[in-house]
Amino acid sequence: MDLKAFIRDIPDFPQKGVIFRDITPLLKDSTAFKHAIDTIVEEAKKYEFDVIVCPEARGFMIGAPLAYILNNGFVPVRKPGKLPYKTISDTYELEYGKAELHIHEDAIKPGQKVLIVDDVLATGGTALALKRLVEKVGGQVVASAFLIELTYLNPRDLLKDLPIIAPIKY
Ligand code: 5GP
Repeated sequence: MDLKAFIRDIPDFPQKGVIFRDITPLLKDSTAFKHAIDTIVEEAKKYEFDVIVCPEARGFMIGAPLAYILNNGFVPVRKPGKLPYKTISDTYELEYGKAELHIHEDAIKPGQKVLIVDDVLATGGTALALKRLVEKVGGQVVASAFLIELTYLNPRDLLKDLPIIAPIKY
């Protein structure tokens, strides 16, 4: 199945010069959404991990079905002021601007293995921030999974040898 056919390119969003890959056409197509999740599931089964960690909001749309199917726990990472308990935070550069993410300080047990998940891997800044957050609370990231990898932004430069699962590549 050609999953790329379900991704809509939006030029100059959210700012000039950025081509935004809109995943909503894929999400609303039951066959494409299922195929995308099932493809990631098959790849993710090659790794051993306890929990899935992913950032709001589009990350949840991919991470939650993966956690359900793979029988893993789900840990949300959120923007400032959203998580109700004590948090650990990380600030990082985004493809467009700066961002800050928080995780509950007791979200991961020391030594737990983690799959980080998001909708799109662009520069890799978000994924690296997720990895740092997981490590700050004592976890170990074993792999990462995305719907889309924007290879032309060279995210692998930041993520080094962290395994990357991404059924759609540009
Ligand atoms: P990075 O930190 O890798 O540069 O950017 C990835 C983050 O920004 C992800 O959380 C993702 O949701 C968002 N993002 C960046 N570019 C795009 C895009 O073209 N499409 C979508 N859907 N999200 C993007």
